[in-house]
Amino acid sequence: MKRILIIGGGFQSLIIVKLLNEYGTCPTIIDSAILNGTISSYHVNSFIIDKVPFFLLSSTDVKKLEELLGQFDIVEKYIKPIVIKPGPLMDKIWAMKVNGSMEKPWPLKWTNALYYPKNGWYSILARLKHSLKYGHIPLRLKKINVKEKVIRLTHRKSLRYDILISTIPLNEFLDLINMNFINLSPNLRRLRYCHMVSLIHVIKGKSPDWIIGYYGGTGMLPHTLIIMSNISRAIVPQGYFTLHSLVSYSREKGLRAGFVEQVKSQLKRRGIISSLKDVIVERVFNIRYACINPRDVNDRLLRRIIDILARYNIMLYGRLACWREYNIAEVVENAKDVVDEISEII
Ligand SMILES: Cc1cc2nc3c(=O)[nH]c(=O)nc-3n(C[C@H](O)[C@H](O)[C@H](O)COP(=O)(O)OP(=O)(O)OC[C@H]3O[C@@H](n4cnc5c(N)ncnc54)[C@H](O)[C@@H]3O)c2cc1C
Repeated sequence: MKRILIIGGGFQSLIIVKLLNEYGTCPTIIDSAILNGTISSYHVNSFIIDKVPFFLLSSTDVKKLEELLGQFDIVEKYIKPIVIKPGPLMDKIWAMKVNGSMEKPWPLKWTNALYYPKNGWYSILARLKHSLKYGHIPLRLKKINVKEKVIRLTHRKSLRYDILISTIPLNEFLDLINMNFINLSPNLRRLRYCHMVSLIHVIKGKSPDWIIGYYGGTGMLPHTLIIMSNISRAIVPQGYFTLHSLVSYSREKGLRAGFVEQVKSQLKRRGIISSLKDVIVERVFNIRYACINPRDVNDRLLRRIIDILARYNIMLYGRLACWREYNIAEVVENAKDVVDEISEII
């Protein structure tokens, strides 16, 4: 049996595992973090909390996911965000000065008709993971020897592979391999990206009546506020609401010390939280590479990288590995190619 390793344990990897299981193989995932990646969702007491707000963008996307996971109850909402304070919102979300060639970030894509699982993402992800067969090595990857087909991990562990699938950021993956050996030296130093912190609060009391609010001004750290419980009431008990506050940071503009406390006091000052004593749950998640600029890796360069790596049984899949803003439906579609690619090698 060929040994298939998948680097990164996000949604793309889990879908690939599902299709590989159906094909009769059981891959191993290397990821030092808890699996699920960006689309993570937690059950905390009686509340469902998503790591970041996350929506299916059309009824076709809903169908694509249902074909894979079976039917689920869905809430369809028409969302018209409000502007709490105008300002240079793109610059604030990107945490840098942007120009016309920059990708529209995810928070600005959350408008018009959006679809959300009635009981939150938690049960959908649990359903997916429950059915999968895979190994998980929770160690950090240090180096890849492409010639010998061996990866080196922390704790002096090494592993051989026959096929390697990378879903991790393209720049970080290429840093792990010996580029001279494979005659590949793309200049990815000028890739533009930024990270985000997602602060989630479960609050006792009456929620504001909007769903998404943008704050472009400098008087508040978050650029986007989202009340997910106004989309589906089923994710919190009566008398509570959930609030996501998204704050961006980048190499150019770092995170301020004490930002969590600052955000809370700003939310209170603006009357979104009436008293800090009403905050029942607080979670803080770091979303690395929350915004990426796909135009920094053009199609020709990406094809060249993919073709060269393919000669060494290395495949790139997913949003960060291909440096493309794939939505969840595209991630599902792309994964369908993996079995074809692998069957050619096996
Ligand atoms: C803020 C945000 C909002 C989004 N909103 C939507 C939406 O509303 N609708 C929609 O359809 N799509 C949305 N997307 C896109 C969607 O999240 C992605 O298409 C999908 O999550 C891609 O899955 P992935 O597995 O490729 O990447 P990820 O989910 O990012 O997973 C990458 C995995 O790689 C791991 N990793 C990273 N570096 C390493 C390393 N060096 N070694 C090992 N593991 C590593 C991480 O721990 C993570 O588990 C959003 C994306 C973001 C960032």
